[in-house]
Amino acid sequence: MEPIILDSVIDEIRISSQLGCDYNRCFHCGCCSNGCPFFAAMDDPPNAIIRMIQLGLIETALLSNTIWICVACNTCSMQCPMAVDIPAIMDRLRHLALKRGLGAAEPDVLQFHQTVLDSISRYGRTHKLDIMMRFKLTTRRWLQDWQVGLKMLAKRKLDLLPSKVQHIDEVRAFFPSVNEERTDE
Ligand code: SF4
Ligand code: SF4
Repeated sequence: MEPIILDSVIDEIRISSQLGCDYNRCFHCGCCSNGCPFFAAMDDPPNAIIRMIQLGLIETALLSNTIWICVACNTCSMQCPMAVDIPAIMDRLRHLALKRGLGAAEPDVLQFHQTVLDSISRYGRTHKLDIMMRFKLTTRRWLQDWQVGLKMLAKRKLDLLPSKVQHIDEVRAFFPSVNEERTDE
């Protein structure tokens, strides 16, 4: 595992703050955590992650499952009185966790992200049935959520066959960088 060089991690967080995610504006009013629909599944409330970064406890933040449970719904950032872009910070932290060799505290979430990206690189859009099947293939939890799958089929929410966008090469042009990042992990 590549050692964690704290200064360089802080530098990377600083870069994201320059992009409009200034975590130092947070004064811990708790609005983000109170409104987060996934709060109950998180190790730490979203504002606790911000606090960790403010205190330089980057590795603690990177190891928290919170950064992987966040689905970037933006509920928190809409409520934040200081306009802190929490989903962007979570995204940056996920990237850092992989880059530093810490892996994902929620491996299934990472697997799901990769399966969705694979579908987009293959078809230029998501093909839900393909994503579900490939995800099941890796987790081997075949029967989990099968009722949801049946309901989606019944309501015609699942296309049996994938459809590809016209200029798939243009979409695939985005993916070398994704693949490079994966080899960095
Ligand atoms: S809502 Fe904004 S200011 Fe309040 S705790 Fe969350 S990030 Fe900090
Ligand atoms: S963006 Fe993430 S942290 Fe913010 S409310 Fe949604 S799930 Fe919670």
